[in-house]
Formats: sequence, C-alpha cells, structure tokens
Amino acid sequence: MAAGPRCNRVMASERARLSGRTMKNLLTQQGRRWRGLAAELGHVTVLHDGPLCGCGQRGHLEAIASGTAIARWVEEELKRGSVSSLVNERPVTAKAVSKAAHAGDKLAIAALERAGRFIGQALADYLHIFNPTAVIIGGGVSLSGNLLLDPLCESLKKHVLTRHYLDRLTIEPAALGDDAGLMGALALAREIESQV
Ligand SMILES: [Zn+2]
Repeated sequence: MAAGPRCNRVMASERARLSGRTMKNLLTQQGRRWRGLAAELGHVTVLHDGPLCGCGQRGHLEAIASGTAIARWVEEELKRGSVSSLVNERPVTAKAVSKAAHAGDKLAIAALERAGRFIGQALADYLHIFNPTAVIIGGGVSLSGNLLLDPLCESLKKHVLTRHYLDRLTIEPAALGDDAGLMGALALAREIESQV
C-alpha cells in the first residue's frame, strides 16, 4: 500500500462488534423512519449511461462491480478478443475470475481493478454522507482480497473530499464472505420473529 492514509485491518472480534452494532442500529432506524425500506448502497449511479442494472436503471454500482457484473464484463472482453485463461471457463463466474486473477491472468486482474475503482468511487460518497469508522465488504467480490481492495483504496483516496475521512477508517472483507447477506437476513428474521 502506498504511503498516506491506509485502509486498515481490524481484529475479527472488533469487526464483528462494529458491523453487528452498526447494522442493528441502521436497520432499526430504517424500519421506523423509512417505512421498512433498506439502504440500497449498490444502486447509486457511478457511470452515467453505464450498464443496465437489475433494478432497471443504468450505471449503478451493482451493475458494474458486483460479482455478476465482473463476470459479465469479462465475457464482453472475451467476445472483443481479449486473451485470457478464462476463455475456457464459459460461462465466466466471479469465482473463476478471482481464481484466474490470483494465478496472474491479466484480464481477470483488470476486471477486479475496474470493480475496485468503482467501489472506491462510491465509497467516497458514502464516507461523505455517513463518515463511518468501519466498512465491511461482502458478497462475491469480497473473496478477491487485495486484488480488489488495493485498487479500491487507491480510488477511495483519489475521490474522498479530504483524507481526514480515512484517518480512523478500516475496510475489511466480510468474515462470512459471500454468505454474509444471507446470514444477516436470517439473523434479522429471527429477531423480528422473537418480537412478534
Ligand atoms: Zn440498480
């Protein structure tokens, strides 16, 4: 990592405490104030007239940097004639892209760098709004490690209004990886059931 504000790491226990408390507070507040609608952090526009998102809008972060979007971008690059070991892994999956990137495949590395740059761009906006001290990256992209996190952090430094937002910030892959969202939904369902 280059000199300057770092994307720090935190201990697992601290990470769990931070993410659990923050998410519980957020969900409680949203349920009361926003008629049960959750924050849709993946549905922010990061590329005007960009790829079509599953929600029907264009250029959303989810349409560019989710695991599905990363795989789709690689597929499109292969159709344009890009050279990659993934040419024999059709249909391309995010997991295959991550594996190929760790093996040194240049197209796969470029795909993760692209996704990381856009996540960093969006994350700068989130810091300006929420100014959190910890960010947990979940979903399929979280499995890619530093190949995604390093360009993410560089992009974040580039887009953030002032480096002070990064002074105490930690960025960490979700401990439960791709299952984090599913397990969170299960925990929330159990909590709601216990209140009925
Ligand atoms: Zn969307």
